Formats: sequence, C-alpha cells, structure tokens
Amino acid sequence: MGTRGREIVGMDVDVLLEHLNAAYASEWLAYYQYWLGAKVIKGPMKDNVAAELEVHATEELNHALLLAGRIIQLGGTPVTDIKKWFTLSPCAYDAPDDPYVGVLLDQNIAGEQCAIDTYKKLMDLTKDKDMVTHNLALTILSDEIEHEEDLQGWKEDLELMLEHTKR
Ligand code: FE
Ligand code: FE
Ligand code: MG
Repeated sequence: MGTRGREIVGMDVDVLLEHLNAAYASEWLAYYQYWLGAKVIKGPMKDNVAAELEVHATEELNHALLLAGRIIQLGGTPVTDIKKWFTLSPCAYDAPDDPYVGVLLDQNIAGEQCAIDTYKKLMDLTKDKDMVTHNLALTILSDEIEHEEDLQGWKEDLELMLEHTKR
C-alpha cells in the first residue's frame, strides 16, 4: 500500500474498496462464463463465435488483474473466498447450460450490459475524487462497450442468416 497514494483519494477508501471488490468478483464470473461458453457452444458460426468468446474471456481476466492491482494499491485485499463471488458481484453468472449460440450470445450481452452499468457507476462515484480509479474504470468500460457491440454484431449476423434460410 502506498500511503500518500491512499491519502489523495477524496472519498471513503473502504467504500471504494467494496465497489472494487464487487467488480473484481464480477470479472471472475464473467471470465468463467465466457471461457466455458467457448468450449460448449453449439450451432451456426460456433467456431467464429467461440474465438470471440475466448478473446473476451482473456480480457475479463485482465480486468480482474487491473482491479486486483488497484485494490492492493489502496491497502485492500482482493476477495480471497471464491464462494463470495456470487453475493458480491453486481452482475449475475449465467451458466451456459443451453449451449446454443443464440442463447450464449444473449446471456453474455446481458452480462456486458450489467458490466457497462457497473463501470459507469464506478466512474460517477470516483469523478473528481479518485482520478486513478476513475481512469481505470474508463479503461475497463471501453472494453465492455466493445464487448457488447461485438456480441450484438454476432447476434445480428445469426438472425440475418436464419431469416435468409427461411426465404
Ligand atoms: Fe470485464
Ligand atoms: Fe466484457
Ligand atoms: Mg471482441
């Protein structure tokens, strides 16, 4: 922990750490949802979509890494008990029990939309109070916005393809 780095934070650091740990838990759940989805996926364009899901899994893991770094910098501890991930996370874990590509895309789109809301809130919370976390939240938010658009693009392709085969 850097003492001066913590002192310049213009808000309750413990409250900030709770938000950071909630986001951290969420990233691990998102990572696993993508990682496993890429393995079990079935249906049209599954290899292409699986490749995208794998990339997103890696990017969610990187978000967990960035958050862990900031939590430790602020003198906190990233949640050590993985059983707490579900209760801490602001976003649901959607098990890929139905492996159909369209279902997995919908589940992950919902996850990205929740992540976008989470980082938007973290940006609002830290605005003019903690520039470092504010900037970190912007970095992650930019990735989540890209993820949502990627998945909605795949969903659109899938729907166009299915529509065309009906003609
Ligand atoms: Fe993420
Ligand atoms: Fe994401
Ligand atoms: Mg992508």
